[in-house]
Amino acid sequence: MEEYDKREKLKEFYLKIRDCQECELSKSRTKFVFGSGSAYASIMFVGEAPGKNEDLQGLPFVGQAGKLLDELLDSIGFDRSEVFIANILKCRPPGNRDPRIEEINICKDYLLQQIKIIDPKIICTLGKFSTQLLLNTSKGITGLRGKVFNIDKRIVMPINHPAAALYMPSKMEILKQDFQKIKKLIDSNGELSTYQEDISSLESEDEQDEDEQLGLF
Ligand code: URA
Repeated sequence: MEEYDKREKLKEFYLKIRDCQECELSKSRTKFVFGSGSAYASIMFVGEAPGKNEDLQGLPFVGQAGKLLDELLDSIGFDRSEVFIANILKCRPPGNRDPRIEEINICKDYLLQQIKIIDPKIICTLGKFSTQLLLNTSKGITGLRGKVFNIDKRIVMPINHPAAALYMPSKMEILKQDFQKIKKLIDSNGELSTYQEDISSLESEDEQDEDEQLGLF
């Protein structure tokens, strides 16, 4: 797809879905949160769902977790306008509860279409929900983060959710290190063979990831 087409296609797609009423969340939302950034981005970050601030502003990651994401991007020389940031759900779950499976199933095609249009080289999944969705696994984030997977000819790298890192200093340190790994991936410009993991080779884990979802965005 031509670069010019990507921007037009993404805009067209936004206009098509912005009044979505496919699930109950559309009734309680203030704003539909499509995602933001560059249609030409080679790296995309995928979170879970809009929180309170995102719902009010119609933009992803604009609260405390978003501030941290901006700082982490800055640490590897990126501005948020150079990447694309999206969520699985485009509307806020009331009280920031976890997304429900039926909501994910209804909304996931929007994300998949965004990925298809933008066609990023690297997708960083933030936390458990987007990791499990895009890797098609039920394994926990603790065992998957920092690993690099080759899915449909692109790189998927799970990392801790910034909201979880804000409340757990140990996760913060790991998140900072994982951003340095993202930089290496970008700098390696596709020469990624030494990093790749095979999803099927990972040992099964019974992690609960109970600390991951704090509902504090
Ligand atoms: N957490 C998310 O997963 N997404 C946002 O947009 C904000 C907080």
